[in-house]
Amino acid sequence: MSGDILVVDDNPNNLAVLVGLLRSSGYQARVANSGRGAMGAIRARAPELVLLDINMPDLDGYEVCRALKADPGTRSIPILFISALDDPIDKVKAFAAGGVDYIQKPFQAEEVLARVESHLKIRRLQQQLEAHAARLEEALATLAEVAVTDPLTGLRNRRYLIERIDDDVALSLDPRANPGDLLFFMIDLDHFKAVNDRYGHAAGDMVLVEFARRLRRVFRASDHIVRWGGEEFLVVVRFESRARAEDLAERVRAALAHEQIDLPDGTQLTSTCSIGFASFPFAAGYPAALRWQDVLELADVALYAAKRAGRNCWMGLSAPAGGLSEEALGALRADPAEVALHGALQVSSSAEPERVREALAPRRA
Ligand code: GH3
Ligand code: MG
Ligand code: MG
Repeated sequence: MSGDILVVDDNPNNLAVLVGLLRSSGYQARVANSGRGAMGAIRARAPELVLLDINMPDLDGYEVCRALKADPGTRSIPILFISALDDPIDKVKAFAAGGVDYIQKPFQAEEVLARVESHLKIRRLQQQLEAHAARLEEALATLAEVAVTDPLTGLRNRRYLIERIDDDVALSLDPRANPGDLLFFMIDLDHFKAVNDRYGHAAGDMVLVEFARRLRRVFRASDHIVRWGGEEFLVVVRFESRARAEDLAERVRAALAHEQIDLPDGTQLTSTCSIGFASFPFAAGYPAALRWQDVLELADVALYAAKRAGRNCWMGLSAPAGGLSEEALGALRADPAEVALHGALQVSSSAEPERVREALAPRRA
């Protein structure tokens, strides 16, 4: 093995003997004849191992070793002390300074070579282990990212939202933080089956990718933009005023309806979407009356009402200005769709009022 070894000793004879020994055994040996010289040589190019004398005039071996161990760039270089000092206290000091070994002068050639060889081997194994650990950590981070990402669009997936939403909910309910509302938008592409049927599944995929791109344009990077299912998306706008919901919904609608999609083969198509939204906390004064899952369900009810109102439109459901009775809240928890359809909630929509009324009219079995 051809380790790059730095030999440090203020005695030229010792240097010559050690360097001769190492070179004849196939190592590359460099020399320094003082503590300062050693520091300079190591900073210029880190050796794989240092053989270090202790008693030297300017900077002694302990000081050199402590300085190397204090610097993250040189900390991992093994330091073998080689000294005529034979008091056990000196050996203890050598290990305390960060040395890995201590060779007594006058030394036996075989012993020096055996110890150098074994510390080089340990160092190399350690480096391999560190490299493996770094690769493993990187792979785990990639895996964690893949597990919460939709492969087609690069958006977040359901798992991501489930992992994060409880923290957002807790923060939004914290009266000291008072960070703002969570706005839930359920968005579904209109007649998407027809896009697949007419242009093919691959074209359908490209529409989904393009829609994801436009969603990113409308919302902030800190919002949760989630591919909830096939052609259904959930966006949770975090810590924003619910007064912004209508504007955001309209921007999503317009982002699709007002700008055609160009496919790579030259096909141009226009797609539309329908949007339902509701905000958390749902009812002012009763912050925890509805869970986020209930609010999500209300957004879903609103989405399907928007579909019935003619598609390419948005609809939002919120608590009425006068608030909700305990009874109404109980009913909402039990069956959000039923309450929404009985006119107990405030509705806002981009659709014609007549269509909205029809869409929310209770359906008879
Ligand atoms: P509506 O306006 O009522 O939402 O009608 P729709 O046709 O969009 O709804 P429907 O639920 O009937 O059909 C959804 C279609 O979305 C059917 C399914 O094949 C398609 N789809 C779901 N996921 C993907 C996907 O990853 N790629 C493609 N190309 N199509 C998908
Ligand atoms: Mg659809
Ligand atoms: Mg759908």
